[in-house]
Amino acid sequence: MSRTEKLAEQVSKRARDLLDRGLDRHVRLAVTGLSGAGKTALLTGLLEQMLYANDSNRLPYWAVRSERRLQGARLVPSSQWSVARFDYETAIAALTAETPGWPQSTRDVSEIRVELKYKPNKGLASKLSDTRRLTLDLIDYPGEWLLDLPMLGLTYQQWSEQQSRLAQQGVRQQIFADWQARVAASIEQSQDTDETLRRLARDYQQQLQRCKQEFGLYFLQPGRHLLPGELADAPALDFFPWPQHLSLPAAWRDSLEAKFSYYQQQVIKPFYKNYFQDYNRQIVLVDLLSALQAGEDALSELRLALGELMKSFEYGNNSLLKRLLSPQIDRVALVASKADHVAPEQHSAMRQLLGQLLQQSRQQLDFERISYQLFAVSGIAVAQPGKLADGTVVLDGCDEAGQRVRIGAPTVPANWPDREAWAQGFAYPRLSPQFVSGQSPLPHVRLDQLLEYLLGDKLL
Ligand code: GDP
Repeated sequence: MSRTEKLAEQVSKRARDLLDRGLDRHVRLAVTGLSGAGKTALLTGLLEQMLYANDSNRLPYWAVRSERRLQGARLVPSSQWSVARFDYETAIAALTAETPGWPQSTRDVSEIRVELKYKPNKGLASKLSDTRRLTLDLIDYPGEWLLDLPMLGLTYQQWSEQQSRLAQQGVRQQIFADWQARVAASIEQSQDTDETLRRLARDYQQQLQRCKQEFGLYFLQPGRHLLPGELADAPALDFFPWPQHLSLPAAWRDSLEAKFSYYQQQVIKPFYKNYFQDYNRQIVLVDLLSALQAGEDALSELRLALGELMKSFEYGNNSLLKRLLSPQIDRVALVASKADHVAPEQHSAMRQLLGQLLQQSRQQLDFERISYQLFAVSGIAVAQPGKLADGTVVLDGCDEAGQRVRIGAPTVPANWPDREAWAQGFAYPRLSPQFVSGQSPLPHVRLDQLLEYLLGDKLL
């Protein structure tokens, strides 16, 4: 095919997408959440349940399936040719390998397209036994990138002041003290400005990674230092907030300001313009259990980070966003992940705690008239709940060595824990997948309710 023909084909595909959206037959559903939240597992699970829906009796709340109107679902090529395809097949291969493991976590934007064929349930169309088609794009992207949005409204100096204040708080003080000392020493010894700034930026990036991995902190900027995507090792990331107690050499200021501005204009803005603009349904996934286990500081940080992340959905009073895009999102699912790691009786507590954590953002969604609902789900369930004769609730699964284990099912606080509860601490299991090839659809928890909320109205 010649280049012109290829281009013509892409244009016609895009035109068809637009027409389908006009006819309400095209949904772009995006999944986000901070890294480790479970996005890859959730997307894989959603695809499993849709593609094998008619082989499953575990989707009672997905009306199109339970009313036997779903005729089929299949993967089709996406019209977004410049975005990586979500690697569903490799994820399933990892989960069902001889030595099964979890798939590779989200590191960049990816998407995948599913076509659902169904029979409408009302009106003339149903009488004519018409078959309808819904095109669904599922998009996966790192929530860390949404945390960069507030940087758009700041100058380099303002951002540096804000981050320096933050670096003095709690555990961050200890993490960043040595890095600040290395910045101070570099001012004295510096020969080559670019090389020095690059080294200090990489060093800063490592400290941010430590904040996340060793201390469970979530509110970290810039997001691309944590998940660079296509910018890994690019000069665009050679900047960091200047420590306010040190004086900034003029040549360094020029370079840091230039990189900061490039990051605002060429990294943050294009992400919102190129991708975010298009979504009409959104899942925000939250790993509450890991934050509870990491302790009160981690849960407070998670609340702060989610508050910032949710600002990307608050169009009405967010002038930064209003200038950037005309958003479409009309439904948001706020989802607590890994619900298979607790007993089913605890799921309502998970939802309630998530609701508390997101209280302010929920008020804002109400104000924007964006519909939202709270869920507790598991994309890929690796633990099966059971009850012993004495009433004890247990979870059966496999540990990381692949050995079968049975553990007492842990509980989840429905409200922010009190001092005594924090002192006792929370512990949740880390069970591993143990599936075999061809086992599809893999087990899940409550994905049918999520599918119904996000797609039910489009499949009538
Ligand atoms: P991402 O960074 O948001 O893409 O997160 P992943 O989907 O890679 O999940 C991170 C880790 O969380 C996985 O490697 C699993 O250990 C765990 N996990 C994710 N989803 C589930 C789930 O549904 N149940 C359980 N038990 N663990 C999960």
